[in-house]
This record gives sequence, C-alpha cells and structure tokens, in this order.
Amino acid sequence: MSTVSLRRLTPPAPAASVLLARACASQEVFVVARAPTLRFLGGFLAFPGGKVHSSDDELACTTPGLTRQHVAAVRELFEETGVLLARDARGAYPTAEDLVSLRRQLMAGQVTFHDLLRKHQLHLRPEDLTVAGSLVTPPFVPFRFDTAFFTAVLPPGQTAEVWPGELTEGSWRSAEQVLAEWNAGDRLVSPPTVMLLQAIRGRTIEELPERLRPLLDKLATGALHPIWFSPGVQMIPLFAEGLPPSTHTNAYLVGNDPAYLIDPGASDAAEQQRLFDLLAGRRLRGVVLTHHHSDHVGAAKVCAERYGVPVLAHPLTAQALHGRIDVQQFLNDGDCLDLGTAPDGKGAWTLQAIHTPGHAPGHLSFWEPRYRLLFVGDMVSMLSSVLIPPPPEGDLAEYLHSLQRLQAYPARLLLPAHGSPSARPAHVLEQALAHRKEREEQLLQALQAGPRTVPELTLELYRGLPPELMRFAEMQIQAGLHKLQREGRSTVNAERWQRSS
Ligand SMILES: [Zn+2]
Repeated sequence: MSTVSLRRLTPPAPAASVLLARACASQEVFVVARAPTLRFLGGFLAFPGGKVHSSDDELACTTPGLTRQHVAAVRELFEETGVLLARDARGAYPTAEDLVSLRRQLMAGQVTFHDLLRKHQLHLRPEDLTVAGSLVTPPFVPFRFDTAFFTAVLPPGQTAEVWPGELTEGSWRSAEQVLAEWNAGDRLVSPPTVMLLQAIRGRTIEELPERLRPLLDKLATGALHPIWFSPGVQMIPLFAEGLPPSTHTNAYLVGNDPAYLIDPGASDAAEQQRLFDLLAGRRLRGVVLTHHHSDHVGAAKVCAERYGVPVLAHPLTAQALHGRIDVQQFLNDGDCLDLGTAPDGKGAWTLQAIHTPGHAPGHLSFWEPRYRLLFVGDMVSMLSSVLIPPPPEGDLAEYLHSLQRLQAYPARLLLPAHGSPSARPAHVLEQALAHRKEREEQLLQALQAGPRTVPELTLELYRGLPPELMRFAEMQIQAGLHKLQREGRSTVNAERWQRSS
C-alpha cells in the first residue's frame, strides 16, 4: 500500500476475540450471531469478542504475562456468553450458578469487571487463553480493529449462553457445519470468521495457531487479505484516489474459475502488484466496470492486458472511456453473465446487469440471485453520501429512480464500492432516498427566502464543510436545482435561483 493511503487511515483499535471449545478434542466452537442493527458486521455470525477498554490495561498490569487483549477477551466472553475464564486462589473456576447474578450486575453497570473480580477474589491466568494470532481489519472501513484471536476451553461447570441484545443467538457448531450453511446461502458469516473456520475445518482449536501461521506470515509481508463476504465472492479493497473520505475502492472477484473482476480501481503500481499477487493461480473471464470514474477503472486496462480478457461495461461508460480504455463487450440493462457452477453445486449462477444512471450515465449495478447479492458500485457509499453531479454527467431524478429500481430486488447483502457491505440492503437504500428528500426540502426552504446564487445556497446548506469539499457540494446543489427546474419548481435568472410561484 502506498504511504499516501496509510497516512489517510486511522490506526486500528485493539480488540480481542475467543474461539471457545467445550473440550480440547472437540471440533465444535461457540459462534454468535451479531444483531442486524450493529454498525460493524451487523447480521453476521462471528466469534465472541470486542474492543479493548481502557480499564483492561489496568487489570493487565496486575498479573505478569497478562496483556490487555487477554483481559478484553475474558471480559467480552463473559459479557457475551456468561463464560468466565477466571479462578479463585485455589485455582477453581466459579460455577454457572454463581455467574448468572455476577453477569447481570456487570451488564447493568452496577459493578466494573475489575471490581467484580476483586470482590470475589478471582484472578485471570494467562495460560487459560492461547494466542492464535492477530488480524487487522483491511482498509475498507474507517474504523478498523487489530484483533487478537485466542482459543480457550469451557471451564467445568459453566455454560455458554447469549442474552439477546447486541448478539441475537449463540450455539456450538463445528467449522464444517457453519461453512456448509454459509455455502448453502443459509447464513452470513463475517470474513475473519470464515477465514478462521476454514483454518480449523476438521481440526480442533489446539491446531489453530499452527494452521493460521502460513496465512499470517503472508499477510505480514503486505499481501491482501482473503475477504469472503459470500461464497464465490472475494472482496478486494484497493487503494484508489477517490473523493474524500474514500481511500479505497472495493473490487470484487465473482464466480467460479474463471471469474469476473469488478472495478479494479488501483492506479498505483505497487497496489496493482498486490492485486496480481492475490490473483495468482486464478483465471479471469473479464474485467467488469460499474462506471467510468478513475477510482473504479485504474487497473482495468493493465488487468485486461495481463490476463488477456475483455473489458465489459455499459455503452455509455465505453463512450466516456474512449481513447483511454477499450471496452470490448457491452453490457446493457438485463444482460446476464454466466458465473459457472455455484459454490454449493446447485443450479445456474449468474450476474445480471441493472442500468442505474444518475451518479454516472452508464452506471451499472449487478444482481446475483443465488445468494441474493446486490453489487451497487457508487449508487450508495457506506462512508458518506454519493456525489450526484448536475447534467449531463449526473442526474438527480434518474439517480432517485435508479435507487427505487434497486429496492425491487430482494437482496440479502448489499456490496458497495466504498465502505463495508451491509446485511440490511432495504434499510441502506431507504436511508439514501430519505437523505436526498431531506436535502431537497432544505433546498426548497432556502429558495423560499428569495433569489440566490449556487455559492450562496451552498454556503447556507453545507455550513462547516471543509473548503476543499465546497466545489463538490456546489455540484450537489446544482443537481438539486436542475431537478426542481425540470419539475417546474424552480427558475433561474442571471445565475440567481428562486422557487417557482
Ligand atoms: Zn463514481
């Protein structure tokens, strides 16, 4: 990754997660379902865990060999499952019976974790947890975690149970079972969980550190993470110069060997090399572009040439890229791409193009019906609102219509070009529409006060916006004014806009 991209990323927050087994020899681990409303990986299966708190530092200092990640792992495991990896002076663990009321007090905020342990003379022992390795969230989200993964065995006399809240359920499952459900499309599983389950499939947790090592060694050299949000769909966030706050564009490798590569946006040579390294051993069928913006097409030409495959895009995208990138195959609304055999071996597997203009004239979204995935390109961003330029480049009315078209698909996962995929596609699309409606109402209200220029309106409606973003805000205002003008709701005279009476 280039130094520019690193500078724009905030450092990851320390976190911890636990793979808990009922016995050393058991192949089952305790997996939890995250509530759909959670900001990060809501709706996905994961392992218990969470962020390190400042109080974890304090507790870590009390015992040699104990780190703050150890403490966070024990505390989060207790909060989320009721299992407490702490012992009394004789080395005995508290029993399930004792723990219910302690957990209730902790969850109600009546006592801190530190005080709870002190009061009951319980101590954490580093040897109750085994470090398996650490993973840093790849840079597709601004809030990232440096998560230490531990393995542990359920203490005798204790039970693991999820109390509904941030988590909706918990169960003992083998890696084989969870991955089979994931493959069948019955479950969403968080990418690091998929990675860890693949590492221990058919094994016990004791083997995790060793099984994980080759991957961690590779990541330590700067390799891209294998991020699986859905079977047969690999997400590849690549550093690409887009509009702030975006630092990366998510490329997606979709389909069975050979696969289609959607939106390889990196123009940086080192970042392109990381992509080639990730693609080593894979065969490509084509490079697909959602639209012509530079942060989506940066590596399109070099990938097409390197792998000897065509570039596919909407005819209007081909026109916009004329002279820069040669689009050999047109994709129009309704066109289907064959993805090969579905990962579960059942039925046809396809990707259908949906023409969704508004952000760009030739913008395409894609619908994958097998796992109900909606690839939305720049129709929505999970980082900020999307820039809709005024005509002829963009069109706000068309954009809203395109968003409404996407609402008709019964999607289970929305995969954007910027930010994290969401397990609440309907909610995300609804929010995007509501945001535009609110902006329009603000604009109408501002016009009520009398004739105003675009810069005047921008200053009023985007108060406090950093100056370097003002010209983009002006474009948004212009797009809104053009929509209102076409609807007969605004008029312009000598660059001053007003509401039609
Ligand atoms: Zn764009």
